[in-house]
Amino acid sequence: MVVDHRSRDTVSMSMSNEKTLLPSSSAPYRVEQSDKESNWFSKNRKSIGVLFGLFLILQHFVISPYLLDFWEENSFKHGHGHGNRKSSCEQAEPIYPKNHNVSSIVEGQKDRIVNWLSGAVRVPTEVYDVMGEIGEDERWDVFYKFSEYLETSFPRVHQHLKRTRVITHALVFEWEGSDPSLKPLLLTGHQDVVPVLPATRALWTHDPFGGEYDGEFIWGRGSSDDKSGVIGILSAIELLLESGDFTPTRSVILAFGCDEETGGKVGASHLGQWIEEKYGKDSIAILVDEGNELEEAWGQLFAAPAVGEKGYMDLELKVETLGGHSSVPPQHTGIGYIALLIAALEKHPHEPHLNVESPLVNYLACGADNSPEFPKHLKKSVYKVEDSLSSKNGKVDRKALKELEDWWIEGSYKDGTLPKGTGRALVGTTQAVDIIDGGLKVNALPENVVAIVNHRISLASSVAELQQQLVDVIYPVAHKLNLEVEAFGKEIQFHECHMHGAKDITGPKAGKVILNVAHNMTLDPAPVSPFTVDSAAWRVLSGTVKGVYATRPEAKSSKEEAEKTIIMAPSISTGNTDTRHYWNLTRNIYRFAYLVEAKKTNHNNIHTIDEHLPANAFVEQVRWFANFIVNVDESRDI
Ligand SMILES: [Zn+2]
Repeated sequence: MVVDHRSRDTVSMSMSNEKTLLPSSSAPYRVEQSDKESNWFSKNRKSIGVLFGLFLILQHFVISPYLLDFWEENSFKHGHGHGNRKSSCEQAEPIYPKNHNVSSIVEGQKDRIVNWLSGAVRVPTEVYDVMGEIGEDERWDVFYKFSEYLETSFPRVHQHLKRTRVITHALVFEWEGSDPSLKPLLLTGHQDVVPVLPATRALWTHDPFGGEYDGEFIWGRGSSDDKSGVIGILSAIELLLESGDFTPTRSVILAFGCDEETGGKVGASHLGQWIEEKYGKDSIAILVDEGNELEEAWGQLFAAPAVGEKGYMDLELKVETLGGHSSVPPQHTGIGYIALLIAALEKHPHEPHLNVESPLVNYLACGADNSPEFPKHLKKSVYKVEDSLSSKNGKVDRKALKELEDWWIEGSYKDGTLPKGTGRALVGTTQAVDIIDGGLKVNALPENVVAIVNHRISLASSVAELQQQLVDVIYPVAHKLNLEVEAFGKEIQFHECHMHGAKDITGPKAGKVILNVAHNMTLDPAPVSPFTVDSAAWRVLSGTVKGVYATRPEAKSSKEEAEKTIIMAPSISTGNTDTRHYWNLTRNIYRFAYLVEAKKTNHNNIHTIDEHLPANAFVEQVRWFANFIVNVDESRDI
């Protein structure tokens, strides 16, 4: 729905700049300034032409590429040349638990780990958009079965950790550490899954609630989203307890919601409150929730946790007009008016904007520093931005930053890095007109027409700014149509809107446009969590990813695999997880799953048919959780 009016191609831009700059500096026009020179020039025109042609050929094929390479080698290689550029993507060192051989706890445990997840998939914890109260709507009761399943599967967890039923089905587990002065680690996930539509059930290769394991994959709804998270955490703790080798110094808290898929109104919102009441604001060292998996980009493997989430608002756009008989209609009915207003919205999509502070700038910096197939022109722009930031005045190179913005909006799709619309959705506020309702009878004019427009708000914007933008687009159109406007509880007056050259229209109005927040819920973009090595939280997250990657089974069996690296980069999420209810608990919120990239193994299919997860990837995720728990425990700087 979002129309992109820009089509600037950064590749051809920079190429044409170089081409027009170089020949013009090679002096031909200066000759016209003197007659003598002019005579000499006309006599020797032919040979000069030949020489100049030769120069151009030489310049194009020999000098230019050489100069470009030289320039790149010397000024664009990280840490060389200019020397004062500070890379935005400094990497942390791998971290290995000092006092415990944590990785050994998963050895020989694959069958048990797979069974734990399979069994969890077999309990169909589906939640629906509209649910009654717990205790009244019996669809909630399946969660009792799920918590019973957890009790029997993870006896040591239930013996050593204190479980509290916050709001019946929202569970907190507390593993008390010996040093109360250390902030606890919080690991979160959700027990609920999106429903399997009855119409699609026959399309599944395996029973969606069978939890089947075919020797390679675990199949079924929730196998990936997010029972892998909940069961991954519990498996890691059960195995740590079983090893008898580890007792926490720092408390570990687990919080498992029961309605993440419908916004966490019942589960996570109460879990967040409960933890805040007991432990206080900003009481948590670091929080890891479900989120981005490992992914390959430009020939390099990345772990890119979401350090921020976009905001959210559904707009209810309503047009009220007088009814009447269709045989004597006005020029526009309510449906005609709303069509014009929707057309105006789609004609003025929200301008995407990339801030220099955005994690997406760092994401590109990480690509530029580490990915063999990273586009050269983009690398130049990234380094220009970094150079400008580390220059004396520290003023950002706006032109280069614009090139990065353009890459997210257009280039990322054109060069095949991202599917169409994805890059734009990451850097801007999106709008999607999803629902429309109006008109009941063919001979009656519609009196009330309503459209619902979904918005995901850019990290650089806010709910308030979005509401103002909507008024700015809607008011002038409504005014021309002689419609009153009420926006977010306030009548909008003509003099409040800067409409150049327009005159106020007095007299009776043709109807009214009302803008409101639908579903009674707005969400500003999430605060951005730290994502550089200056942050202890980012270092322990990065260090664990690197340590676990370096000790993966493949690295032991092949030298080539052992030499491969994983790069940590920040990313953002266009959707929202339960973490929206945990903002008060810590600044250090990371939405991340140590799972091999979905595209590579063709696994996942979350929210649709054939959701599944490779068993080996899941075992590695359990190993990651165990290492992370111990690494955070041993860290003293968060
Ligand atoms: Zn999920």
